[in-house]
Amino acid sequence: MTLVDRAIVRLLPAVPKQIVRRISGRYIAGTELADAVRVVRDLNVRGRMATIDVLGEEVTSPEEARVFAKAYRDVLAAIERERLDANVSVKLTALGLELGYEHARTNLEEIARDAAVRGNFVRIDMEHSAVKDDTLRLYRGLRHDGYENIGVVLQACLRDAIDDAHGLSNVRLCKGIYVEPPEIAFQDDDDVRDSFVAVLDRLLAEGAYVGIATHDDYLIEESLRLVRQHDRSREEYELQMLLGVREERADELVRAGHRLRIYAPFGQHWYAYSLRRLQENPKIAGYIAADTVGRLFSRRNGR
Ligand SMILES: Cc1cc2nc3c(=O)[nH]c(=O)nc-3n(C[C@H](O)[C@H](O)[C@H](O)COP(=O)(O)OP(=O)(O)OC[C@H]3O[C@@H](n4cnc5c(N)ncnc54)[C@H](O)[C@@H]3O)c2cc1C
Repeated sequence: MTLVDRAIVRLLPAVPKQIVRRISGRYIAGTELADAVRVVRDLNVRGRMATIDVLGEEVTSPEEARVFAKAYRDVLAAIERERLDANVSVKLTALGLELGYEHARTNLEEIARDAAVRGNFVRIDMEHSAVKDDTLRLYRGLRHDGYENIGVVLQACLRDAIDDAHGLSNVRLCKGIYVEPPEIAFQDDDDVRDSFVAVLDRLLAEGAYVGIATHDDYLIEESLRLVRQHDRSREEYELQMLLGVREERADELVRAGHRLRIYAPFGQHWYAYSLRRLQENPKIAGYIAADTVGRLFSRRNGR
């Protein structure tokens, strides 16, 4: 990222929501479930699987958390009805984790049960480090209770990811998007990459099913090397990417015969997710500039 891009990233929260909405549109399937169904159908036609996320996090009441749980059951019903090749990704803070562990457990169990009946799968996204231990505890607890259709996420940026990897059966591995302090998280890009490779190696060695979630060419190549080294068949791992990111690279991976799942978020609460995606876009300054120039230009032309 250039210095200008880095400066823009810091200023992003001050950018009007209207602009954020416009330039982050490519990362979001839409505001309604019907939008997500349409986008996922198109992904499936193009040989990609999907995971659907109902946008939202950190609810403030148990009722709000119930609304999210219900929204996920609607998504699972739609996936079955429309015969989509998709599962769901949930955030535990949207299911009430910060209101109390039991709120999140009850809501997650309800979604996992519904998914199991429909032969589907639930991925628990990983959020900021303060909720990591509860997230892993909930995952382990439900697996212990017989829910084999749930998986969790590890963030390679966290120093203890390598220890957390032990004994997990189904993991999405990513770098980690939340800003964490140096005491618990690697700050240097190369250290995060090294950690990613080491954690993946451990997960594969222990027999876990792994979703390799990265757009970083170095990590994609290293991961595929490890997959071969551990003699994994095509069905025993998957690559994962975010909607709207590196679509040409995604095409290449599908053409090369890999299974690829796209994270497709939808819903009314698009702002926090959009900010995180824009902060990662190495060309963010260009997008903001193009949007601003575009608006000035259309104003001049009376549009
Ligand atoms: C399927 C999936 C699920 C995820 N789930 C979680 C989760 O549960 N918890 C969590 O903390 N994080 C999650 N993440 C985010 C992840 O932690 C990273 O923040 C994100 O993937 C960027 O890291 P990267 O490995 O792609 O490498 P980067 O070095 O960030 O990206 C590599 C290259 O990809 C391109 N690129 C990346 N992002 C963008 C963008 N937004 N716009 C345009 N180009 C871009 C650029 O060319 C960049 O140079 C998830 C990521 C994916 C793909």
